[in-house]
Amino acid sequence: MDQKMLILAIDALDWELLSQFKSTPFLTELSQEGLYGRLASSPVPLTPIAFGEFYMGRESFIMPNQSMDRIVKSTYRLDMSYTIFDQLSEKYQVGLIEMPCLGKLRSIGEYIIAGLTYDEDRVYNEDHRVLPSHYRKYISGYPFYGPVKCDLFNVKEQQDVEYRRFDYINKIVQENPCDIIAIYLRIVDATCHSTKAKDVVNHPNEVWKALHDLYQFVDKWTKILYEKIIKPDIFLMFSDHGFNPMRKQGPDWRSHSYDGAYILHGIDKRKKENKRIWQLHHMVKKICGI
Ligand SMILES: [Zn+2]
Repeated sequence: MDQKMLILAIDALDWELLSQFKSTPFLTELSQEGLYGRLASSPVPLTPIAFGEFYMGRESFIMPNQSMDRIVKSTYRLDMSYTIFDQLSEKYQVGLIEMPCLGKLRSIGEYIIAGLTYDEDRVYNEDHRVLPSHYRKYISGYPFYGPVKCDLFNVKEQQDVEYRRFDYINKIVQENPCDIIAIYLRIVDATCHSTKAKDVVNHPNEVWKALHDLYQFVDKWTKILYEKIIKPDIFLMFSDHGFNPMRKQGPDWRSHSYDGAYILHGIDKRKKENKRIWQLHHMVKKICGI
């Protein structure tokens, strides 16, 4: 591919919030120049299921009427044996940084750094076994699923961690130039999960302002990644599902059963078009000519 493509997956970026906030000037600019819209998640809008739909290009077979236990056990065991990245890597150089649920795969393309993985004991497992040894020092400074405690009243520490990621992302992409690079960002999901329901009820104004600030951070982070590090010709941002803690909190996955968003820049003229997450799979393949 004579063009470089960046796929940025932002966990739990909420369509409604993105549409309401004025704090995301960079993402707004990209959407106004390209294609964008509401992105309906999988029937059960959990991270691994939603990403599975994107990877495989079809609707999930896991439906909301199954028991919670069964849903959770199923999520990290989806068949992801021939994903969109396997297909793209037959034609292009592909690099993956912490994309969920791909950690146990054989190598794809140039490099793969594991994201969320399933483990019998720990669903959210830090798995860097496939990481080339000379990158370990960068990863070790990044407690992705580690000790950082974060909620909407205290996001600074986690933001600092995300800014530190630029060091090793930069090093990896400099040393391994790829046609297609996919990167995952979890701060919105992690922060919303950590925010207590009682805080949403008791301090709605503060939570609203903190959410606003969180989205502003995501916007700045994306701008640096885009302009200073990857400099892509084609850019796709998508979220796997929405997560708005200002809405009524429900149990388990029902608290994030909202729509995410996507923005495609570098191909289409200004246009709004709502999609389902599995449709992005086919959109990316069409863009890449496979
Ligand atoms: Zn998610």
